[in-house]
Amino acid sequence: MAKKQFQAESKRLLDMMIHSIYTQKEIFLRELISNSSDAIDKMYYKALSDDSLVFNQGDYFIKIKADKANRTLTISDTGIGMTQEELENNLGVIAKSGSLAFKNENELKDGHNIIGQFGVGFYSAFMVADVVTVTSRAFGSEEAFKWESEGADGYTIEPAHKDTVGTEIVLKIKPNTEDDQYDEYLDEYRLRSIIKKYSDFIRYPIKMDVTTQKAKEGTENEFEEVVEEQTINSMVPIWRKNKSELKDEDYENFYHEKRYGFDKPLSHIHIKADGAVVYNAILFIPENTPFDYYTKEYEKGLELYSNGVLIMNKCGDLLPDYFSFVKGMVDSEDLSLNISREMLQHDRQLKLIAKNIQSKIKSQLQTLLKDEREKYEKFYKSFGRQLKFGVYNDYGMHKEVLQDLLLFYSSKEKKLVTLDEYISRMPEEQKYIYYAAGESVERIEKLPQIEVVTDKGYEVLYLTDDIDEFAVKMIQSYKEKEFKSVSSGDLGLESDNDKEQSDSEENANKELFEAMQGVLAGKVSKVKASKRLKSHPVCLSTEGELTIEMEKILKSMPNGQDVQADKVLEINVNHEVFKSLKDAKDASNQEKLELYTNLLYNQALLIEGLPVSDPVEFTNNICKIMV
Ligand code: ADP
Repeated sequence: MAKKQFQAESKRLLDMMIHSIYTQKEIFLRELISNSSDAIDKMYYKALSDDSLVFNQGDYFIKIKADKANRTLTISDTGIGMTQEELENNLGVIAKSGSLAFKNENELKDGHNIIGQFGVGFYSAFMVADVVTVTSRAFGSEEAFKWESEGADGYTIEPAHKDTVGTEIVLKIKPNTEDDQYDEYLDEYRLRSIIKKYSDFIRYPIKMDVTTQKAKEGTENEFEEVVEEQTINSMVPIWRKNKSELKDEDYENFYHEKRYGFDKPLSHIHIKADGAVVYNAILFIPENTPFDYYTKEYEKGLELYSNGVLIMNKCGDLLPDYFSFVKGMVDSEDLSLNISREMLQHDRQLKLIAKNIQSKIKSQLQTLLKDEREKYEKFYKSFGRQLKFGVYNDYGMHKEVLQDLLLFYSSKEKKLVTLDEYISRMPEEQKYIYYAAGESVERIEKLPQIEVVTDKGYEVLYLTDDIDEFAVKMIQSYKEKEFKSVSSGDLGLESDNDKEQSDSEENANKELFEAMQGVLAGKVSKVKASKRLKSHPVCLSTEGELTIEMEKILKSMPNGQDVQADKVLEINVNHEVFKSLKDAKDASNQEKLELYTNLLYNQALLIEGLPVSDPVEFTNNICKIMV
């Protein structure tokens, strides 16, 4: 029989699995049991929508069987099974979406992460087995097929015989090595504890033949070994258990069992609500950003159960977009089992639950921020961007909910701070919350515009994410203090005295500035004496709402908008360069005035990280003054 090849991506992943870097090989059992449970769920749904089908609870189970002599471990189920085509499509391709793009070699070495991101459940079998044989008969079919693979070099599919509908997976367990005792996966006691640990609350019985010692019939102290089929799992879902019975580890196992993520969740919330609406929920705040999180493909939502029975895999209506990173499930008795998606959207109970959940998540995040700052910062690194989008979206409707959860880098503290912390440190006379936007902390630190604010002893927030300034503009003011960009025309810093002085400077140089403005027509709306520059000769500031950073971001968007910030060229009249400008003007040397003006303007652009429009001319101009 011709061997079929796995898809190229799948092959790489499979290689990794086999030479597993994954430390906990035992999880393969959890993965296979979950698949079986899903397959039985599918039968259950079929029966829900098909009156001719009766779902007889007793007919549905998962069976684990170890055969030490033949070194095989068999996992079988009475689920929906797979057709030949499904075997091919489901088991021949890892990461069905084909989205398995290894970003770099480091990530490849860190197999844990990749495996985690794609939830390649079935393939984990190859961590403990040399050969995997899947025999399956699909519901509604008389035929069965056998899929077999020894790992990376492909698989075969051929017709087979199977009496009942369902799937049977036989693992040929690897021989022991120096590092790994694969024998343990044939040991009843060990298997039992793995099942208990990871799959205790699976809804269907997980049966296993267990050997026990029993007194021989008619005797009292003569024993014989009896093999008995036992159900290993308690089948009580974790969310129905008392919180006091559960350890962090149990929640973590649940998180992994459900494939909410493969990272260790940062925090969990177990809700048992019995007020206006009755429900149980377990929610998780993940640590890592899922690989597709900031893309259109990512789908938010919680699993929704009605009285212990799953009715929807991802109920999006339970989570606001700004908390879309939350994973978990909700179980409520108040929801009807046969409720359709459309009906759910209008369901009053569901709306109440969603509202309730939203406030629980917020308070959990606030608690983390308050009591476990390090953890919160980890969270913020992964999902802070989403919170900021949340502030900005829907015309700022949710800013009240979210603004206390934001963090920005502080010029003073040299770390992330909350707005509240900023306000609490503000000197009394400080009018605004100052911020500077730029590509990175390092770049912002060098911005000439910053000096005058930090020299006053004021703290400046550095906005380095492209969404930041938009979010801040949406908030407008926090605790009655308005936000102010250090690049804005009026910083609200000067005293009346300063003002008089700068006005007189302005008047004294009026003609010069007008001449320069003429040279830069269409590029800047004004040239003026700067009140903020200390050591630098020039900088740009803006008037109006749109700042230079925002202009950059809007221009770089896919459907790039042609927007222009209203720019002002500020000149440091105390800088030596200014004298040269003046001399050129006084000598009526128009050519020189133009040369200097253009050079200074281009310098200001470069400082802002904006492109100079004609780099060749710019460098030629520099040469001109050198010779
Ligand atoms: P995932 O479960 O994350 O989709 P897997 O690699 O574990 O990924 O499984 C791939 C697919 O194979 C499943 O989505 C399911 O359609 C099918 N499958 C796996 N195991 C079984 C089983 N025991 N019965 C029926 N279908 C199964």
